[in-house]
Amino acid sequence: MKSALVLGAGGFIGSHLVKRLKKDGFWVRGVDLKNPEFSETAADEFVVGDLRDNCTVKKIMFLKNEDSFDEVYQLAADMGGAGFVFSGMNDAEIMHNSALINLNVAEWAVKYGIKKLFYSSSACIYPEYNQLDPDNPKCSEDTAYPAMPDSEYGWEKLFSERLFFAFARNHGLNIRIARFHNIFGPEGVYDGGREKAPAAICRKVIKADQDGEIEIWGDGKQTRSFLYIDECLEGVRRLMNSDFREPVNIGSEEMVTINELTEMVIGFSKKKLNIRHIEGPLGVRGRNSDNRLIKEKIGWAPSQRLKDGMKLTFEWIRKEIEK
Ligand code: NAD
Repeated sequence: MKSALVLGAGGFIGSHLVKRLKKDGFWVRGVDLKNPEFSETAADEFVVGDLRDNCTVKKIMFLKNEDSFDEVYQLAADMGGAGFVFSGMNDAEIMHNSALINLNVAEWAVKYGIKKLFYSSSACIYPEYNQLDPDNPKCSEDTAYPAMPDSEYGWEKLFSERLFFAFARNHGLNIRIARFHNIFGPEGVYDGGREKAPAAICRKVIKADQDGEIEIWGDGKQTRSFLYIDECLEGVRRLMNSDFREPVNIGSEEMVTINELTEMVIGFSKKKLNIRHIEGPLGVRGRNSDNRLIKEKIGWAPSQRLKDGMKLTFEWIRKEIEK
């Protein structure tokens, strides 16, 4: 039986990934600061631990003498939506905490001879100057440099991409790197300050009166694409099974404005809501995944309609709120 270690297994993508790896027949150890919030972990073993601590990483990455994990998925990060990442209030913690985790993981992955390591980077590494026009953002993988991410979160991701590449070059670490573009779905946080736009909009619409009002940050004309969790995991597993070792986008190419996304969710609710635009942390003006490289190298790209995933997410959040 193949073995996998999922770091960040108590988080949104990590907890879903554990389920997927179990379905794919792996023995799984999950590690996180906390248990998954919305359902029991599917991991065979779940360790609550702090990956900023070098000794903890040494312990949890050990499998048994003369054998090491077949696959390690490094998803742990100090992370949140625009309110957390773009406010500027959390920059020091974001950089310090996530960099420490990645430094420890790279070190022990090499010392234990981990067979393959996945690192979750982000579309936030792409330079701001290519994302000023909401209708024509440029996010092909080869545009990452000259670097100019618009957040410290993006800079840390870029640093850690380079860190894992350096360990690959100098110590033979076998890596796969995906740059995720806005992953969403059921069992993701929808309030508390770390939630992302799709979940935040669903929550606001569900909580609004029948003919009330909801607040949206900015003018709502900023563009994004959003990828449903199941397709994200399909991409991750296919990338891990491929020989492709350069960073690759895992995202949807179905770009919408935040106003369009909001209208879609209001449509699910059958309410008559007024959208009020207020000031708030925004991020880049436009962003979309560019899937040419993943199609060329992996022979696959996401294809599910945004509306289908949003509907599932909306219904899940509605049930949670009505609990
Ligand atoms: P998440 O916040 O739900 O999961 C991250 C997990 O890491 C959390 O459960 C958190 O407790 C854990 N963690 C943080 N610090 C830790 C520490 N010191 N020790 C142990 N665990 C720690 O986020 P997610 O949406 O599941 O994202 C997973 C990964 O994908 C992250 O690296 C994130 O940066 C990346 N990513 C996500 C998106 C997205 O849209 N969700 C987009 C781009 C990149």
